[in-house]
Amino acid sequence: TRACLDAVEAASALNAVVHPTPDLAMQQAEAADARLKAGDAPSLCGIPLGIKDLFCTRGVASQAASGILEGFRPEYESTVTTQLFEAGAVMVGKLNMDEFAMGSSNETSVYGNVVNPWRRGNDDTALTPGGSSGGSAAAVAADLCLGATGTDTGGSIRQPAAFVGITGLKPTYGRCSRWGIIAFASSLDQAGPMAKTVRDCAILLQAMAGHDPNDSTSADLAVPDFEAMLTGDIRGKTIGIPKEYRMDGMPDEIEALWTEGRTMLEDAGAKIVDISLPHTKYALPAYYVIAPAEASSNLARYDGVRYGHRAKLGQGDGITEMYEKTRAEGFGAEVKRRVMIGTYVLSAGFYDAYYNRARKVRTLIKKDFEDVFAQGVDAILTPATPSAAFPLGQEFDDPVQMYLNDVFTVTVNLAGLPGIAVPAGLDRQGLPLGLQLIGKPWEEGELLNIAQTIE
Ligand code: GLN
Repeated sequence: TRACLDAVEAASALNAVVHPTPDLAMQQAEAADARLKAGDAPSLCGIPLGIKDLFCTRGVASQAASGILEGFRPEYESTVTTQLFEAGAVMVGKLNMDEFAMGSSNETSVYGNVVNPWRRGNDDTALTPGGSSGGSAAAVAADLCLGATGTDTGGSIRQPAAFVGITGLKPTYGRCSRWGIIAFASSLDQAGPMAKTVRDCAILLQAMAGHDPNDSTSADLAVPDFEAMLTGDIRGKTIGIPKEYRMDGMPDEIEALWTEGRTMLEDAGAKIVDISLPHTKYALPAYYVIAPAEASSNLARYDGVRYGHRAKLGQGDGITEMYEKTRAEGFGAEVKRRVMIGTYVLSAGFYDAYYNRARKVRTLIKKDFEDVFAQGVDAILTPATPSAAFPLGQEFDDPVQMYLNDVFTVTVNLAGLPGIAVPAGLDRQGLPLGLQLIGKPWEEGELLNIAQTIE
């Protein structure tokens, strides 16, 4: 714990940890020592972790990297962090992220961007760690903690994991409780682990997962022993390669790594089949209707009364001005863009044309996956991202370009499936690239086992 706390201090230029919690960490580490001495060491006893700022942590700033939650210190602890602490984990601090988890570059944070610890060869240009869990990704990659929590609504665990060369798992929707996690798009949000290896993700998921009566969408299913399922034996498994993920203009290096991953799975005894997921091309537009729609509703609670920031009011200002000024000051540009898109697609005149249509598309995307799983496919192999980490600032002013980062990841959220990003190799400039494996619902154990073959 001390080594991690020192590393957090030394790496402040990365801007990955926005609220270090050294006192709490030392208390938790001492408690872990005592449990160890008493012969009662749980699975994460004394393991230093970073926690994304989206998780409510009791008495510790939890702002979703937003100005509107300025000064918010929750009275309660999220279910996921409660379970991690019960398993003996130590929190070194709260981690930077895109504001309300909206973004793919960690540049929308009220705390400023995170810097990717990687560089292109000898080129010193600062790169994005991806987003929205950019702080989690950078913190794990730079050894500020041994693992971190992330959340993934459209790719926010898997894309940053791929950009910094670590492993990130988005579990099946409902596997981990969302209670105490600040909501972005409730039908898509899911917490998951980010760590150096598949095995570490399995151990973390074990502690994070489980039924929670406080979240009606959390599944009442037993949590299997994920680590014990890492047998390394994938003989006879069928892996699908979806042709729709072969995009025009995809760098040949990504194509080459994809083929390499396929060969590794084949060598391990898996059967490779070409598959089709015909509605893939509609996933990104459907996601960017559904996610903002849900966000506009979830973010209505930030009214200057219940949480965080309240604008200073002028003479004659009433409650409407209070709402308007508070929200105008408290939210950043990307969040405002999403609220406007969301309220537009939910408005009486456009509901059917946009929101309802997007929901229908979502059902078709889910059915694409159900069909291939019904044909005997056990997991699907795709690239994790369409590019390696890009320079900070490069895509910031072009939201559509930024949204294209999620092209390989959003389908998984729309279908509620588990997906994992695994480091696959380096590009010509020496930057990490990731592959994604998509699994059947509730089959994270099998997915992790298959993923270990390609890590
Ligand atoms: N980049 C996507 C977005 O901005 C995904 C974010 C996420 O998964 N939280 O909505």
